[in-house]
Amino acid sequence: MTPSAWWSSYVKSPAAFRTALLRWHAKAGRSLPWRDCPDPYAVWVSEVMLQQTQVATVVSYYRRFLDKYPDVSSLANADEAELLRLWEGLGYYRRARMMQKSAQAIVAQFHGMLPADAETLASLPGFGRYTANAVLTFSQQQRLPILEANTKRLWSRLCGLEIPADSSAAQRELWRIAEAALPAKSAGKFNQALMDLGATVCTARSPNCPKCPMRSYCRAFAHGTPERFPPAKPKRTAVAVEHAAIVIESGERLLLTQRPAEAIWGNLWEFPRVEMLEGENAEVAAKRAAADRIFGRVVAIREIGVIRHAVMHYRIRLHGFRAMLKGQKSRILDERTRWVDRSDLEKMPLSSPQRGLASLFFLDCSNSKRI
Ligand code: SF4
Repeated sequence: MTPSAWWSSYVKSPAAFRTALLRWHAKAGRSLPWRDCPDPYAVWVSEVMLQQTQVATVVSYYRRFLDKYPDVSSLANADEAELLRLWEGLGYYRRARMMQKSAQAIVAQFHGMLPADAETLASLPGFGRYTANAVLTFSQQQRLPILEANTKRLWSRLCGLEIPADSSAAQRELWRIAEAALPAKSAGKFNQALMDLGATVCTARSPNCPKCPMRSYCRAFAHGTPERFPPAKPKRTAVAVEHAAIVIESGERLLLTQRPAEAIWGNLWEFPRVEMLEGENAEVAAKRAAADRIFGRVVAIREIGVIRHAVMHYRIRLHGFRAMLKGQKSRILDERTRWVDRSDLEKMPLSSPQRGLASLFFLDCSNSKRI
């Protein structure tokens, strides 16, 4: 029996299934600032932030973001550096840049109003099926299915799917199930209930089946080992990399480089940095980072600390150095590099490891004023 057939035949009473879920949600659902919000823009902001980021972290960013950019046109006209600075700490900065691109398209093509049609919305930069459906079902109760990490896991268990939830076969079945399960009215509330159950009861490592309102409908529970569902896909092994970066001072100015738009940490600023070559000494690598960006005498180099950071499947160790530019003869070699007054550093968008390096630098300055 396919999982789709399961939905109509195995659940003796789909109506009772929905009622049990909604009753549980009325008592135990999460209270979040973007819940029951009729403004599609605000829901969109929350959904983009929640991609790859924990709810607890998102709450304060969400409020700050809406204070500064309360509607589509304010986001469309935002200064990119200020936008990225506000995003700093959430990571995956491409999300913010894509949001701004979409906001500009919405202003240009839809008079600043998010389209209420899921297909049109899904075609905008950074949207896709999940985000478009989530925005419209949560803000307008449109009868649209949603599927993200929590609901994938939940449906996989309820249906006893024995294939990794990210495989294309599972994706197809899960979307069909999520659609078949929707009630005729208040689909947004039903979708929120599914997400909350997945996030708080049917958790990845330890599903709390004794407290679950859907126990009697659940195939994985009947099986006896619910945490085995869905089967895990083989993990990509983390790659360890060593980077070296150098804070170069010239009076009150510091040398910074802007990252290419399409690279990781796109359009953020950083101190000159290189990935260390095999067998290369960190200080030699730091000098190489300096020599790639500036022609001049960089002296008094010394290490100020090491930052550890994980991003995507990389485990990065960043060796931080501090140095001074000596003499007047210098030339910047790269058009994305420039001198920045150290008092402006606070306003510049930096990646987390680079912000950590800036803190090490200021700590070192306060401990020993001169190199
Ligand atoms: Fe998840 Fe257990 Fe509930 Fe099934 S019974 S949905 S496995 S928490």
